[in-house]
Amino acid sequence: MIRILANDGIDPIGKKMLNDAGFEVVTDKVPQADLAKALIDYDAIFVRSATKVTKEVIEACPNLRLIGRAGVGLDNIDVEFAKYKGIKIVNTPDASSQSVAELVYAHLFAMVRFLHHANRQMPVDGVDKFSELKKAYSEGIELRGKTIGIIGFGRIGQATARIALGLGMKVLPFKLHASEVKIEFDFIQASNNSTIMIKMNTVPFEDLLSQSDFITMHVPFPKGAAPVITKKEIALMKHGVGIVNTSRGGVIVEQDLLDALNSGKIAYAGLDVFEGEPKPNKALLEHPNVSSTPHIGASTKEAQERIGIELAQKVIDFFLHQEK
Ligand code: NAD
Repeated sequence: MIRILANDGIDPIGKKMLNDAGFEVVTDKVPQADLAKALIDYDAIFVRSATKVTKEVIEACPNLRLIGRAGVGLDNIDVEFAKYKGIKIVNTPDASSQSVAELVYAHLFAMVRFLHHANRQMPVDGVDKFSELKKAYSEGIELRGKTIGIIGFGRIGQATARIALGLGMKVLPFKLHASEVKIEFDFIQASNNSTIMIKMNTVPFEDLLSQSDFITMHVPFPKGAAPVITKKEIALMKHGVGIVNTSRGGVIVEQDLLDALNSGKIAYAGLDVFEGEPKPNKALLEHPNVSSTPHIGASTKEAQERIGIELAQKVIDFFLHQEK
């Protein structure tokens, strides 16, 4: 029987698919320090972003044939070494794009209407200082008509653009090695569903930096990659720009971000990911102009269900149908 350790959990539907196909799926969390020892008896491991499948773990587990990443980024897996050992790696790149894109707007809407402040202050002062708080949060802005720069125009970047266009925002996409990208829109209507295709041209990086009212990050951040946003890029941005990072901690240099938040160059930042996860920089979390979430971009019921199903199907194909 094929044994799988789903160390960061798996959606029940995906687990049932695997069980029905005759696989054993264990969801008891093994601490990172004990992983190499515990994994010896398993054919496969599933991880999200928490568990790290390091060279040491792979080396200690000669029976390991597959590593499943429930999500997109593979930065918590030593991909090179796994490939060298002939271990199959599967991930679920499409399943979470919409959820991550929606979180971008959760942060953006919150920040432009001061919800990140109001949610902190209303429980404390809402009864006694209602009028003062009303005044303090009365200078919000609309997203409609504003320009959003999207750095990294793959699956999530494009899902972010669909929402921006629907809101009436101007979109400036930037992607390495591309000039034209076609994105599809599905409209669900009462009588019939329809799809339209929109062609978008990417813009030079410097134009995106200097013209955007908001900038959102959607690039991968493989081991050893250089940060994309440092104080040099921040200097090119508009004064009072808003920035959102749901990609990976480290794509923006956090100290440079903090300096820019303190000077007002960056008016607010929406952060789902942090350099020091799972121990993020406290100064960022406590900053009054930061709206933060603990890496929950893909953590919706819909995305987790899609991830579980996609992962289960790929793993069944691999073990039962020997798909290479
Ligand atoms: P993708 O591979 O579809 O798209 C990434 C795009 O970025 C590609 O088009 C690539 O050409 C471009 N790119 C790479 N380096 C670049 C750079 N330096 N400058 C500009 N463009 C660059 O990936 P995706 O599915 O859109 O996911 C993007 C990232 O989102 C993932 O790598 C992952 O780190 C992150 N993510 C986060 C969460 C979360 O929970 N917050 C969930 C899923 C994915």
